[in-house]
Amino acid sequence: MSAFPPATHDVFALDQLLTDEEKEIKYRTRAFMEREVAPIIADYWERAEFPHELVPKLAKLRLGGATLKGNGCPGQSLVGAAMAVIEIARVDGSMSTFLMVHNSLAMLTIGLLGSEEQKTQLLPRMATLESVAAWALTEPSNGSDASALTTSAKKVEGGWELNGKKRWIGNATFAEWIVIWARRADTGDVNAFLVKKGTPGLQTRKIENKIALRCVQNADIRLESCWVPDSARLPGVNSFKDTNVVLAISRIMVAWQPVGLAMGVYDMANRYLRQREQFGNPLAAYQINQEKLQRMLGNIQAMTLMAWRLSKLYEQGKLDHATSAMTKAWNTLRGREVMALGRELLGGNGVVSDFLVAKSFNDMEAIFTYEGTYEVNALVAGRQATGIAAFKALPKKGKKQSTADLAMAGQSPNPKDQQ
Ligand SMILES: Cc1cc2nc3c(=O)[nH]c(=O)nc-3n(C[C@H](O)[C@H](O)[C@H](O)COP(=O)(O)OP(=O)(O)OC[C@H]3O[C@@H](n4cnc5c(N)ncnc54)[C@H](O)[C@@H]3O)c2cc1C
Repeated sequence: MSAFPPATHDVFALDQLLTDEEKEIKYRTRAFMEREVAPIIADYWERAEFPHELVPKLAKLRLGGATLKGNGCPGQSLVGAAMAVIEIARVDGSMSTFLMVHNSLAMLTIGLLGSEEQKTQLLPRMATLESVAAWALTEPSNGSDASALTTSAKKVEGGWELNGKKRWIGNATFAEWIVIWARRADTGDVNAFLVKKGTPGLQTRKIENKIALRCVQNADIRLESCWVPDSARLPGVNSFKDTNVVLAISRIMVAWQPVGLAMGVYDMANRYLRQREQFGNPLAAYQINQEKLQRMLGNIQAMTLMAWRLSKLYEQGKLDHATSAMTKAWNTLRGREVMALGRELLGGNGVVSDFLVAKSFNDMEAIFTYEGTYEVNALVAGRQATGIAAFKALPKKGKKQSTADLAMAGQSPNPKDQQ
């Protein structure tokens, strides 16, 4: 396979919406991804291994910590951080998820909700990727209704004892630190704790046989009488509403991810159609292929503008959960369509991971589901539009929906749990 194709997707001139710094992040990241990652990543994906050899090189891009300021973090604008996300995802979804779990979930939680001591101790090494972090909210029994999590934290002499199970936790097999979300046994409130790799009582086991994001090392976690000191508790987390402070930003970043995947697949398909001939003409000459290509291109422009506007609304303090949920849902739906069209246009080569289109096609499936599934995010937006929470069958006449019924995917309607 030849080098990664040139970028041909940007017909709406996204650059005109960017500051000089944001453009610089975008092109610095693009050059790195095309040169260092594109030639080797399909093999890692096939073997379902994480490319550890790339981490020191990625660190040199100074993307660690993204929007956080101080403690060695670059203090990027939200759009600047998103430019790194799309350029990484354009070449590889797994690498973008690896960095987003580290930056936009784990580091962000420490940066926004940790103590000064936790920040000064942990963030500088995390910003340089010497120390990688994971973020554990989901449980085997609590996916979409994550706010009903059951992992427990019991106060004991000098610290806390954690018990429970987590599932799907990205980076967790090798991360130095895992942010564990748990419910306090005494008050019932959700808290968060920093658990270091190797702590007795912490077990991580890689989830095998994934068809998507195969380089990301997702783990099942078991916590059995896992003792952590008082200093491991994040003082800024006192209920699930504090989780939402982090999810509000990470969901924006996830809404950008399909944009990057779609750009890469479009660029790949565009080049392929021009190069391959059938029936004496390049595939690009056939009208049906051009229709597919322009449908992909139109989706990319719309997805980009949705995600860009979402980021700007957040920066202006005008973003609500429903708009964020709608954008994440819509961009993953359109992203799936772009993946399917690209896969069709490559014919048989569209099902071979070497061409990167099949890899992105599969990776899109995980993004459709994580950070709130397509359906649950659509229902969060639907609640805003209709005033009816459709997460659960409507209650019988005269009986009000309980807040517990409505507490979905970090979107709890309980005022106590909201920002
Ligand atoms: C590759 C990958 C990486 C991940 N990384 C992390 C991570 O690093 N950290 C972390 O904490 N979590 C992570 N997750 C977990 C992810 O956030 C959950 O998978 C997601 O929230 C969905 O939960 P679930 O898989 O249990 O599905 P379920 O909640 O069981 O949903 C199954 C289906 O039912 C639908 N559904 C559920 N409830 C309703 C309802 N009320 N109304 C209508 N439809 C409904 C869903 O939309 C879905 O179609 C990851 C997941 C994946 C796949």
